[in-house]
Amino acid sequence: MSSSIRVRFAPSPTGPLHIGGLRTALFNYLFAKKHNGKFILRIEDTDQNRFVEGAENYIIQSLEWIGLTIDEGPTKGGAFGPYRQSERKNIYKKYAEQLIKEGKAYYAFDTPEELDGHRKDHEEKGKTFIYNWHNREKLTNSISLTKEEVDNKLTTGTPYVIRFKSPEKQELTLQDEIRGEIKIDTSTLDDKVLFKNDGLPTYHLANIVDDHLMEITHVIRGEEWLPSLALHHLLYDAFGWKKPSFSHLPLILKPTGKGKLSKRDGEKGGFPVFPLSWKDSKGYKESGYFPESVVNFLAFLGWNPGTEQEMFSLQELTQAFKLDRVNKSGARFDPDKTKWYNQQWLQRKPNAELTSEFFELLKENKSLTKIPSLAYTESVVNLIKERAVFVSDFWELSDYFFKAPEEFSEKARKKHWKENTASLMQLALAILNSTEPFSSKVIEENIKNWITKDELSFGKVMPPLRLAIVGDLKGPHLFDIIEMIGKEESLKRLQIAIECL
Ligand code: GLU
Repeated sequence: MSSSIRVRFAPSPTGPLHIGGLRTALFNYLFAKKHNGKFILRIEDTDQNRFVEGAENYIIQSLEWIGLTIDEGPTKGGAFGPYRQSERKNIYKKYAEQLIKEGKAYYAFDTPEELDGHRKDHEEKGKTFIYNWHNREKLTNSISLTKEEVDNKLTTGTPYVIRFKSPEKQELTLQDEIRGEIKIDTSTLDDKVLFKNDGLPTYHLANIVDDHLMEITHVIRGEEWLPSLALHHLLYDAFGWKKPSFSHLPLILKPTGKGKLSKRDGEKGGFPVFPLSWKDSKGYKESGYFPESVVNFLAFLGWNPGTEQEMFSLQELTQAFKLDRVNKSGARFDPDKTKWYNQQWLQRKPNAELTSEFFELLKENKSLTKIPSLAYTESVVNLIKERAVFVSDFWELSDYFFKAPEEFSEKARKKHWKENTASLMQLALAILNSTEPFSSKVIEENIKNWITKDELSFGKVMPPLRLAIVGDLKGPHLFDIIEMIGKEESLKRLQIAIECL
C-alpha cells in the first residue's frame, strides 16, 4: 500500500553527479521505499548560466545504473509535472508577486555596478555588505522609493529583482531530523533574491514553490543547504504553507578526514568520484565497480545499521534504513573500503555472470592464440575469483591457465631451483605422465606418495613444480591448476622449465 510520503531528489544539471549527490539520491530513495512512499526526480535548472549540456541525462543514467528507479520525473511523467523547472517558468512569478503584495518581498532596482560599489566600500572598511533590514531603506527598491517612482521604473522596463524581506531580530527555531533544533537570529540574514531579472526564479523560490506544489513531505539533502534552511523556513511561513520535515546529510570528507571530498582528491588518490565517466574522469562503472558495491559503500557514508552487518543489497537497505541512524558529523571517504565492498560483492556474483564479463576481455586479449571455451573459463573464474577485486583483475590472476608462462620469476628461481631440482622435476614429469585419471585428487595422491616414499621434502618439490607450471609462486591449489590445463600442457611446461631453468 502506498503512503503519502513523497521525497524528491532535486539536482541542478550543472555537471556530472558527484558521489555525494548520488548518496543524497540514495538516502531519499531508501527513505521513500522504506515507507512505501514516492521518489521523485526534479531537475532544478533555473540558473541558465550554470546549465551544462548532457548533465541531466547523466544524472538519469547514474540513478538507473545503481537501481534507483524513480516514481515521477522528467522522463517518467507523473501527476505533479512538469518536473523540469525550466518548463515550469510561468508558475513562479505569481508567488513572488503575492509576497510583494503582502509586503513580504520587494522590487530592488540596484544595478550590479552599484552593488559591487557597496561591496567594495565595505571591504575597504573591513566590513561585509549585507543587503537587509539595516540598509534596505538606503538602497534603490520599492521600500525606499515612492509608489510613483516604482511604477515609473516598472513601466519603463528598468531591470529589477525581487528580494525577500527578511525580518529583523526574530529568533527562529529550525528543525532538522538529524541535527535537532537549530536557533538562528534573523538579523544576520540577507534579503535573498527570489526572482531574477531574466524572468526566472532563483533556487530558493522555485525550490519552495515546487516542494509545496509537488506535496513533498520530507526534504533530505546535503549539508551545504543547511544555511538556506532559515530562509526556506521563513518562506513557508510567508506563504502560510505547511513545512516538510528537513534532514541535512553530513558532508563526505576527504580520505584524510579534513575538508570536503573533491574531484581533485580523486585525481590525486586515483579513485573515481563520479558514478559514470564524464569527459576525462573515469566513473565507478567504467572502473569496474558493481552497482551493488557503490550502493553499499554510499549507504555507509553517514549511516550505519547499528549492527555488525556491512553487506547490504539495495533491497536490504530499504528495510534497514532509518533517518535517525544518519550521523551529524562528516563521513570520511575511504577508497580502500570501496574496493573491499567490490571484492565482497564479486564473491557473491554468480560465476556465469563473472565469466561472461571476463570472456569479453579474453576475446580482446591479443596474447591469446586461441579463445578458451566458456566452460573452461568458468572453471578458472571459480578458482581465482577469491583474490579479485574487479573482473579486470582476473587476467593477471589467471593468465597461466590460458597460456604457458613466458618467463619465470627470478626470485622464485633463485630460492627454489636447486642443483637436483631438474632431476626431481624429471621424476615428477614421469609421475604426471602415468597418472590416470588426470584429476586433481589423483595427481595429488601420486605426487605425495612419491615424496613420502623417496623421503623427499615437500619444500623441494612443490615450489619448483609450481614455478614450472605457473611461472611464479602464485595461484590457487597447484593440483587444481594441473588438472585444469591438462596432461599434455602440464608435461610440456615441465619439460620447458627443466630445459630453461
Ligand atoms: N538544486 C539543489 C541542488 O543542486 C537542490 C537542493 C535541495 O535539495 O533543496 O542540490
